[in-house]
Amino acid sequence: MSHHILTRYKDNGACRVLKGRVLLYIAMLDEPQSLWNREAADDLRQAAKICAEALESGAAEDGVDLRILYDLHDLKASFPVDRNCFGRLFSLQAAADGCRDEFELQALLQEKYGADQIVFVNALNKEGISCARPLDNNSLRGDYFGESLLLFFNSPRSCYSLGYTLLHETLHLFGAADFYLPAQVKEVAEDLLKYSVMLHSGDMKIDELTRYLIGWQPQPSPKARLMLERTKDVTRESVNRARTERYKSDK
Ligand SMILES: [Zn+2]
Repeated sequence: MSHHILTRYKDNGACRVLKGRVLLYIAMLDEPQSLWNREAADDLRQAAKICAEALESGAAEDGVDLRILYDLHDLKASFPVDRNCFGRLFSLQAAADGCRDEFELQALLQEKYGADQIVFVNALNKEGISCARPLDNNSLRGDYFGESLLLFFNSPRSCYSLGYTLLHETLHLFGAADFYLPAQVKEVAEDLLKYSVMLHSGDMKIDELTRYLIGWQPQPSPKARLMLERTKDVTRESVNRARTERYKSDK
């Protein structure tokens, strides 16, 4: 099962099992194309709350102890931010908090919030496709425990749909895979787990396979197993191709 395309993020990177005290450290990026006002900030705060509640109640169903904390703050960037900026954003956030690098930053946040793991959310009030950047074990340095995502939205947007997107992307960092591409995965997921947040169902339910991937369930349930079985010959190339197509259509 270790080479299955849907399990490729499981137990990988810095954020692994979604449990304990997890901080959503949410930067409202103030850059040339992303402008903030009170309403947009309120929408984002509400979305964080919705996401936190969905995660905590989902974890409780599996008997997992999870507490989601969130902090919203401004972050000034002089450059337009896109999905090639993850590294620069870490440096920017560290400097803004008076730290030398992301290691010092995470130590500061751990101390301040008692956080076990950190999700660095970079929120942009502009057009774009939200995405997570799960780290892999090879790119980890030291005992780093934070990972990051980009959250694009155009204010006003419904808090529910924004919270939904934040939930989807956060789950990626802890091991979840997309179920809406490529076509073969989507077909099987629509058959077996059609309510899943990873399928862009519009529903905030965390399905059984995702619960296994993020460490809430020690073994895949029979339905999760079936999902894996019916998608076992999906290749990494077909996933990458489908993803490239999606980003192309964004332009
Ligand atoms: Zn996704």
